[in-house]
Amino acid sequence: MESNKIKTNEKKLKESEEKYRLISENANDLIAILNSKFEHEYINEHTYRKILGYSNEEMLGKTLHDIMHPADTKTALKVLQDVFKKGEETGELRLRHKNGKYIWVETKGRTFKDSNGLVKAITISRDITERKLSEQRLKESEEKYRNILENMMEIYYETDLRGKHVYANAEYYKTIEYSKEEVIGKDYHSLFDAKSCEVLFNLFNQVYKTGVPWPPTNEAKLMTLKKKLIYFEGLIDLIYDSEGNKVGFYGLVRDITDRKIAEQKLKESEEKYKYLFDNAQVGLYWSRISDGKFIECNETFAKLFGYNNREECLTDYIATEHYVDPHQRFEILEEIHINNEIKDFEIQVSKRDGTPFWASISARTNLKENRIEGAAIDITVRKKAEQLLQKSIEDLARVNTELEQFTYIASHDLKEPLRMISSFAQLLEKHYKDKLDEDANDFIRFITEGVSRMQNLINSLLTYSKIGKVYKKFGKVDLNDVLKDVIDNLAELINETNAEVIYDSLTSLFVDKNQLIQVFQNLISNGIKFHGKVSPQIRVSAKRDNNYWVFSICDNGIGINPKDFERIFIIFQRLDNKNEYDGTGIGLAICKKIVEQYGGKIWVESEVGKGSTFYFSILKAEFRN
Ligand code: ADP
Repeated sequence: MESNKIKTNEKKLKESEEKYRLISENANDLIAILNSKFEHEYINEHTYRKILGYSNEEMLGKTLHDIMHPADTKTALKVLQDVFKKGEETGELRLRHKNGKYIWVETKGRTFKDSNGLVKAITISRDITERKLSEQRLKESEEKYRNILENMMEIYYETDLRGKHVYANAEYYKTIEYSKEEVIGKDYHSLFDAKSCEVLFNLFNQVYKTGVPWPPTNEAKLMTLKKKLIYFEGLIDLIYDSEGNKVGFYGLVRDITDRKIAEQKLKESEEKYKYLFDNAQVGLYWSRISDGKFIECNETFAKLFGYNNREECLTDYIATEHYVDPHQRFEILEEIHINNEIKDFEIQVSKRDGTPFWASISARTNLKENRIEGAAIDITVRKKAEQLLQKSIEDLARVNTELEQFTYIASHDLKEPLRMISSFAQLLEKHYKDKLDEDANDFIRFITEGVSRMQNLINSLLTYSKIGKVYKKFGKVDLNDVLKDVIDNLAELINETNAEVIYDSLTSLFVDKNQLIQVFQNLISNGIKFHGKVSPQIRVSAKRDNNYWVFSICDNGIGINPKDFERIFIIFQRLDNKNEYDGTGIGLAICKKIVEQYGGKIWVESEVGKGSTFYFSILKAEFRN
């Protein structure tokens, strides 16, 4: 009975074992029993062969170690230890196929006691290579895209639906000048000012509601809380999960701040120049190089040429019709062609109704824009004044020459009859001196004196008319020598009057020595001649004054009334005291004419009874023309 029962039990056991063996053998997972030394005691050979290529002989008695990926040793050891320690554990590891390739498995281990009471582990490992590979591929691809995002010049970021930043690339941080810590997990309010947040809110709201991305052509302006202004354009769209639910937003945008600022500056500058163009008092125009057609002009230009306004001028202006001399148009065009510009080109043009006027044109070619840019001003008034001035100068020169010729001829011709009068007066005196009465003798003396005065006058006049005509001998002249000569020439007068002439050490000048002798001699002799009660004292000094040398001749004589300061320099002008003092009244006129030839002036400062100081200036040679 008992043996029957045992037999039945054994049979049942066998059947049960057989059933599990069958299940195990046909399972898709690797099933193994390991002893506490981690050695394989059982494997479902059929599956092991299929997945790992090993047979019973190759596996039984071997540990997991023998077919494990070296990098997974640690993990595997821990899993197995934990299985025996905790009774159950799971892990992922790689096993080596017989052909050398690795296979990813997910292993579950659980302990049990065998019939001998020994603790063993049963492990079930599932091939998860496919999943692992696809996970890895996903990771790699994500990494690749992150890498691209991180390194691209565009800004990329993601937020959740409430605007909290989930991710942003380096360009984003760089642009808004906030760090990763300041951005991730934060929404717009901690980065941008209220107005910008409103802009962003509306924008995201619109994208959310319509499901249509914010178009790349649009642009928006933001201001960070750190007061950085950012203009951007690009794309903002929704992020969907795998089920098609809206989960957040992404932005792929470009910072266009520099471009916008440059555009703004350009606009401002264009406005500024447009204002200047429109309001300039100079006529401004642009004409096309290819056909000469006027493409732009301002009101001033239109009015200059007799049009009512700019529009009328642009429609009706025909360049060829406005030149008085058509040749000048070709001259201008040729010059512009050669030099790319003309400056102050003076031409005669005509208004729309034919009235001629003078214009000064400056223009340049702008090849890039295929146009000539020009400016025109009406110079008719100036031109007329210039012409008038030129005519006056010519008239004056002619009159001067005629006058000089007249003076020269008259004085020359007068000399001859005078000489005759003088000779006959002398003969009269010689032959009839004792035969005539006292009155007659006086009359003869008056004639002789008058003649000699007249001769003096004529000689002075001749000298005067010759200044500037006679060839001058220019050279470096030491004025100290000039003064010595003058004092020598005036020795008699100096002695007679007991005069004293003192002078500073003087400079050298590039002049005609004789002319300078004449000037100094006239001035010094006047200073001596017009002395008062005390003996004359004359002082000559010189000083530099910018481009001039200024000389002064100071005396202690009778002085001159200021009302006569101008008059005394006019030829033959003498003051009331002429009978008291010798002279012809031409000396100062000669001085004036000479110093003016050296680009200088002559003038006097004086007070009656207190002496006079005559000044004259000479332009330094390097500044004369
Ligand atoms: P002249 O000496 O032959 O009369 P000038 O032309 O040299 O002719 O001088 C014109 C006039 O100016 C003189 O007649 C005199 O009245 C006045 N004059 C010139 N130099 C002096 C002087 N140093 N002091 C006072 N009067 C002077």
